[in-house]
Amino acid sequence: MVRPCPKCGKEAERIFIRTIKGRKYVIARHYVTSVRGKPRYHEWSLGPLERAPPEVLSQLKIPHEISELPATITLTREEMIAFHVKAVSRMTKARYKPEKYGLSWEELEQAWQSLKSKIPNPVKR
Ligand SMILES: [Zn+2]
Repeated sequence: MVRPCPKCGKEAERIFIRTIKGRKYVIARHYVTSVRGKPRYHEWSLGPLERAPPEVLSQLKIPHEISELPATITLTREEMIAFHVKAVSRMTKARYKPEKYGLSWEELEQAWQSLKSKIPNPVKR
């Protein structure tokens, strides 16, 4: 969930990127009222774009570019094992030995899906 309006607590209706002094920031806003035909908004910053969490990036509906990827992510032990088994060793279910890793193939698959969901696609669509 994106941080609500600090002035009145309302949720953001729109979030977008604004460049301020060469740096990109994520700005949230919601409509307040219209003054002589001109809309008025509450606007607040959600912080620099490069530190935006995935839920903000997905709301921005912008493709994930390399520069927008998080600098680090944290993996669970199960996800590390899944990475080794699926990506490094490219093991199939037939070759996988659950007793060696302490994870069933189903648990491994679950951890692999979880790991993939943590990593946004770095390539522009
Ligand atoms: Zn507000």
